[in-house]
Amino acid sequence: MKTKKRFKGSKLSLLFMLMFVIVLAGCGNDEASPATGSSGTSGGQEASENIDTIAAIKERGKVIAGVKYDTRLFGLKDPISGNVEGFDIDMAKALAKKILGDETKVELKEVTSKTRTPLLQNGEIDIIIATMTITEDRKKEVDFSDVYFNAGQSLLVAKGSPITGIDSLNADTTVLAVKGSTSVTNIKEKAPDAKVLEFENYQEAFTALKANKGDVLTTDNSILLGMMQDDPNFEMVGDIFTDEPYGMAIRKGDQQMVDTVNEMLQEMKDSGEYDELYEKWLGTSPPSAE
Ligand code: GLU
Repeated sequence: MKTKKRFKGSKLSLLFMLMFVIVLAGCGNDEASPATGSSGTSGGQEASENIDTIAAIKERGKVIAGVKYDTRLFGLKDPISGNVEGFDIDMAKALAKKILGDETKVELKEVTSKTRTPLLQNGEIDIIIATMTITEDRKKEVDFSDVYFNAGQSLLVAKGSPITGIDSLNADTTVLAVKGSTSVTNIKEKAPDAKVLEFENYQEAFTALKANKGDVLTTDNSILLGMMQDDPNFEMVGDIFTDEPYGMAIRKGDQQMVDTVNEMLQEMKDSGEYDELYEKWLGTSPPSAE
């Protein structure tokens, strides 16, 4: 009797589940078309042979940009206003202006160093504008725009720390870094004896440094600069020990999108808008080589 009742119940819930799935499938075809431009056909979540991000953006009427929410100066979400601000965010707005003629036609989606490439590849975002270094390894998975910012890896410590640079790191040092970043790979190479603790994002890593869970936090000098502004009890030490040229990442094979972004960068440099943005966020004019 009991089993029969349960069986009846499970049949009913199966029916509900089926109905739910059907409703969900229906919703999948609304205006939130995938970021890959499979020109109107549904279900093209995977990057297809003829990727046309520009067409997808025009059809949708907005650019979906993958940006950081945890990185002061580049992409930081203000927990009170909910606004996301930074150099990378202004780049995303400039791209919306370039493609759609309106800088407000942009949807920002949070990415971390670990999630950004998969989110681009599965079509959830059109572009990564998120402090991402152009590397040969990453070029196997994505295409990059021209360099739009030159950073270099450095170290952040509490003021008064005995650590003065990369040579101070040894088997007794715990280094804090973020998963999926070049900083992790680089530090393991440059200071192979040091212990490395990896976090999901920069907010978590910085909180850990403040809580004395490590001796030093390592990432790009540009990101560490934002942390120093956030809390002046911390300072950057030593010279940069890597080159981290930032590029915007685009789905592999989408040359039209790469060309459009590069054209935008050139136009921004020619008009002086690039220098203005650089000064707005970094407080200095860009080095002349950029
Ligand atoms: N630029 C470095 C990278 O792409 C570190 C910053 C980050 O994690 O985004 O990995």
